[in-house]
Amino acid sequence: MSEPVIITVALNGAVARKIDNPAVPISPSEQIEAAHEAFEVGASLVHIHARNPDETPGSDPTLFSAVQDGVRRHCPGMIVQFSTGGRGRSLEARASCISLRPDMASLATGSTNFPKQIYDNPPDFVINLARSMLEHAVKPEIEIFDAAMLYNAKALADQELLTRRPHVQFVLGVKNALPARREVFDFLLSELRALMPDASWKAAGVGRWQTEVARWCLAEGGHVRTGLEDNLRFDGSRLAASNAELVTQVAEIAASVGRQPATPSEARAILGLPSV
Ligand code: ZN
Repeated sequence: MSEPVIITVALNGAVARKIDNPAVPISPSEQIEAAHEAFEVGASLVHIHARNPDETPGSDPTLFSAVQDGVRRHCPGMIVQFSTGGRGRSLEARASCISLRPDMASLATGSTNFPKQIYDNPPDFVINLARSMLEHAVKPEIEIFDAAMLYNAKALADQELLTRRPHVQFVLGVKNALPARREVFDFLLSELRALMPDASWKAAGVGRWQTEVARWCLAEGGHVRTGLEDNLRFDGSRLAASNAELVTQVAEIAASVGRQPATPSEARAILGLPSV
């Protein structure tokens, strides 16, 4: 029997606004409700960006903790993952959410270009962020926006700056970074398997690549990510009505190839996280 698939819902990201899709959750209560709807249809991991009331990317710990508390209350066992991504926030602000001890946090292991700016992750910052996650028992999700980041992650693992079984996400389809080409996906996956054979992994396809990349992951035994952070549309004809609709869409694709959504306790076991 195939391993259950961990479905991550990336609720909102740092970029999309309500004018782009009114379903993008901004306030903590909107994010908690969106996480709960996604949880009910099969998401076991929620990836969170705090947003200020004016929709700009937020760093206020009270925003992060409000969402974390609400998800823990309403979605028993759901894995909470904070973004440490940039988009105009200072390095210090990006690292500040770790002290709130989410289950996981993103860790990009290098710098790349984004559509309109540099995604700035200097070597010292990466090492200090990894160290802070270890100290606070926060499991990193290694974010691979460019191939070098995979080798940098391996170097961190060799320095024992990562938890024992790494978890990796390939991000495909961001303009100016890695394209969503099957050849790129296959190369990255073969390198991951050679370098860190015990790693769990998934890939995020951005924009119109979302479901295509999910199919690649499902076929190769990986996990998947969906949500309005990566893609605002249900298909070519209309916007997605909600994060939950995108989770349902990917759960149906998973079922069609014999993969069932992981329950929170299954997802925690796969990722080596404490059960709740
Ligand atoms: Zn994100």
